[in-house]
Amino acid sequence: MFLLILSGCIENTTQKTVNPVKLDVKQTPGDSLPDTLTHDHQKTSEDANPFVNIQEVNSNIWVDLKYRTRDNFMGFPLYDTIQKAYLQKDVADRLGRVQHYLTKLKPGYHLLVYDAVRPLSVQQEMWDALDSIPVARRGKFVSNPKNHSIHNYGAAVDLTIVNEQGIPLDMGAKYDEIGEIAYPSKELMFLEKGLLTQQQVANRQLLRKVMAAQKFQNIPSEWWHFNACSRTEAKQRYQILVHEF
Ligand SMILES: [Zn+2]
Repeated sequence: MFLLILSGCIENTTQKTVNPVKLDVKQTPGDSLPDTLTHDHQKTSEDANPFVNIQEVNSNIWVDLKYRTRDNFMGFPLYDTIQKAYLQKDVADRLGRVQHYLTKLKPGYHLLVYDAVRPLSVQQEMWDALDSIPVARRGKFVSNPKNHSIHNYGAAVDLTIVNEQGIPLDMGAKYDEIGEIAYPSKELMFLEKGLLTQQQVANRQLLRKVMAAQKFQNIPSEWWHFNACSRTEAKQRYQILVHEF
């Protein structure tokens, strides 16, 4: 696997941005990441790390990184060194404004972030783990690492809302639940069938409303996933994160 050498300590919470990352691009034969990553590594090694801790932008945003824990669809931790939720600076600023708006609408409510920037290496692990699902269907749940996920650029975020008691709102489907019950595109059908309640749909609508105020777009198959921009724009505008820092 690739080695990451930090030129500073990313745990230093007094800094707004993470210190520049240097990469040793030695690759073992077993590494299954696409060849095109070599260029990304070189680019990454020369540039300052652009990712910022969203809680340093707005400390009212709560974070529970599910891929640091066993509480995820894989059943084991996927992140070793990523401890906090990082996004591109301008994306983090927008999310900070979403929290301001949510506080205005619902004092005491918080965004709760489940995942933010996700290294491409982890994207590959997820993709490989779901190999029992045909590629065409798998892509609805996990972006194909060959195309990159917008998460890999720190321009997508998975999140929910917690109420003033700190309890996540009932969205009618768990985070990362594989199944159409999690699809925003089908929630009215599930409402009619009585498989989602009015309150569950209203909770999803609240999340979409506050996120849309800062132009974050939900996707049709996951109530929790929001993009700050299109994949094409992310590729043009932002640096990809290949491995954990
Ligand atoms: Zn996502």
